[in-house]
Amino acid sequence: MRILITNDDGVYSPGIAALAQVASAFGEVRVVAPDVEMSSASSSITSSRPVTYKRTPLPGGIDAYRVNGTPADCVTLGVTLWEKVDMVLSGINIGANLGNAIWHSGTLAGAKQAALLGLRGIALSAPATDREQPSFELLKPWAATVLKLLLAAPELPLVNVNFPDKAPRGTRWTRQSVRQYDGKVVPAKDPMGRLHYWYTVIPVEGAEEDSDRRAIEEGYVSMTPLLLDLTDYEKLEKVRGLEAWKKLRFA
Ligand code: MN
Repeated sequence: MRILITNDDGVYSPGIAALAQVASAFGEVRVVAPDVEMSSASSSITSSRPVTYKRTPLPGGIDAYRVNGTPADCVTLGVTLWEKVDMVLSGINIGANLGNAIWHSGTLAGAKQAALLGLRGIALSAPATDREQPSFELLKPWAATVLKLLLAAPELPLVNVNFPDKAPRGTRWTRQSVRQYDGKVVPAKDPMGRLHYWYTVIPVEGAEEDSDRRAIEEGYVSMTPLLLDLTDYEKLEKVRGLEAWKKLRFA
């Protein structure tokens, strides 16, 4: 099995090295990742300039390349230059990607890009604070457990995996939390006295039952199967019904 690995923290992140080591037990691994941090880049692609790559072997003899592009660029380039890729892993991100944060996540974008190209994509993230990174040594066996579980479920093309901030109590299948977050911007001043703004992405409501956020709060590894199709089928049926009704009425 050929496994392409990317992330949005950059090729030198300890998270991608940990994931590559774990994935090596499952198949042939190649890392293709951004040369600088691309967190919150979402699914953006580089269309206004060409992208290039440079070989950057990682410790442990991992075959790796750095790209001057986004996570989505890395996946497209990776599967174009390395034939017959079976699966794309993205992460392990330094920082959780839960609930509505998945709209902004570059880590998720790596997995989504794989799914858009007809491949399996799995995003993996772990919470971090300003001072502390996730304990990748502790998470490695859990990442292996998750890969085993997901390889046994090939019907899931796109999965968002999050680890808790301490030794997990187990794994849980979850849904995406869609509670609103505090999307406000916080004003501040730079050393020149100029006004600037910081974006905040902080959930302001409690996590729903069965959700990804709830699983993490309760100390479990969260695994959420995702869809690329964003269509609201319930509303679609409603508006189509409404149209049919209007036609009848005004015919
Ligand atoms: Mn990141």
